[in-house]
Amino acid sequence: MKNIKYTAPIGMFIKKHYCPKCSNILTTHKIKKIVNSESEEAKDFDFTSDAIDAMGHLVGDVEFIRYVYRCGNCDIEIINSDMIKHEREKIGKKERSWHKTLGLILFILSAVVFILFFIFFKSDKISVKNYYSVNPFYVYLQKHYCPQCNLVLKVKYDSKIVNSNSSEAKDYNFIIGDSTARGDVEFRTNFFFCQNCELGIPFDEMKKYEKEKE
Ligand SMILES: [Zn+2]
Ligand SMILES: [Zn+2]
Repeated sequence: MKNIKYTAPIGMFIKKHYCPKCSNILTTHKIKKIVNSESEEAKDFDFTSDAIDAMGHLVGDVEFIRYVYRCGNCDIEIINSDMIKHEREKIGKKERSWHKTLGLILFILSAVVFILFFIFFKSDKISVKNYYSVNPFYVYLQKHYCPQCNLVLKVKYDSKIVNSNSSEAKDYNFIIGDSTARGDVEFRTNFFFCQNCELGIPFDEMKKYEKEKE
């Protein structure tokens, strides 16, 4: 009796397979080959068997019936295990390139958000220059009281926005800290203010008044 080993993985028939070389659709072909278990080429064949009378291993002449993929274009045959390996690699590559694309998209998005954020704040925030006729420590480190009603005074400011390129710019000092501000600059003139009397008092006048009172 001739031993027969039949191998036909279901995966070979339920979906289309494509040639790794030319992407042509592959056809499956039945291949029969008799190999003796004692021969040279036996090492390339799987003689294990689950047949009851074979004791787990086929001996002697065995007819191997296998299916291979064949590309009519390239005239090549591909065995199933190679095809599985090739298809797994292809899926891995696809996933890797998808991850790369996703990473790139996220990177671009965050860069755009960052730039928009930057532009928004850049354009929204204009330089501010505060004017104090006295040392600011005098203004903030002690309480000052309204000469009329004795209520604690608050600090208010008059605000004027001047563009460094405008004609009136020459009347303003655009130096803030150790750099010169450009574009719109808000000039704030600070003074004391009594909410009760709705009275504004310049710092230096307040200082004079307080000195006289002492
Ligand atoms: Zn091909
Ligand atoms: Zn007052």
